[in-house]
Amino acid sequence: MIPGEEFWSRVHKTDGCWIWTGGNRGNGYGTFWAQGKRYYAHRYAYYLASGKMPEGIILHACDNTICVRPDHLSEGTQADNVIDMWHKGRGVPPPRHVGESHPYAKLTEETVRQIRQQYDSGHYTQSELARAHGIGRTAVGCVVRHETWRHVGDPQTTKAAA
Ligand SMILES: [Zn+2]
Repeated sequence: MIPGEEFWSRVHKTDGCWIWTGGNRGNGYGTFWAQGKRYYAHRYAYYLASGKMPEGIILHACDNTICVRPDHLSEGTQADNVIDMWHKGRGVPPPRHVGESHPYAKLTEETVRQIRQQYDSGHYTQSELARAHGIGRTAVGCVVRHETWRHVGDPQTTKAAA
C-alpha cells in the first residue's frame, strides 16, 4: 500500500484517461510494488476512490488497461470481464466448463464418473463402454487411466474425504 498522494503523483491525467506511469506487468495493466507486494494500479485507484478493495475484478469502461481514472472503472465478476473482452474483440469467447469444452468431449463429468465406475467394476471392456457411451475407445482409455478429465473427482474418494 502506498499513500494516495504518492499514487496519484505517478498518474498522468489527460482529459480522457488517466495514464499510470509507475510501471506495468507487461500485460497492459499498470502495477506497483509496495512493502514487497505487487498491486494492480487500476485496482488501487478504485480502492482509493471508493474506500474499499474490490472483491471482483475491475472493468475499464474506456478499454484502456493502463488507465486508472476512477470513473472509468467499475467492479464486475470474472465472467463479466471475459464477456466484456469478447465483445470488444479481445481474448477468446467465454469459456464453457473446463472439461466439457475439451475438444474430445461428447462426454460430461457425469458420464466420466459412470465410465470409470463401470470399468472399475470389471464387467465391461473399454470397447463396450465406448459403444455404450458413443465415444471412441481411445477416449475411454484416456478416461479410465485418468489421462483426461483429471479434475473429475472419484465419487468414492470424494465421499471418504467429506
Ligand atoms: Zn480510461
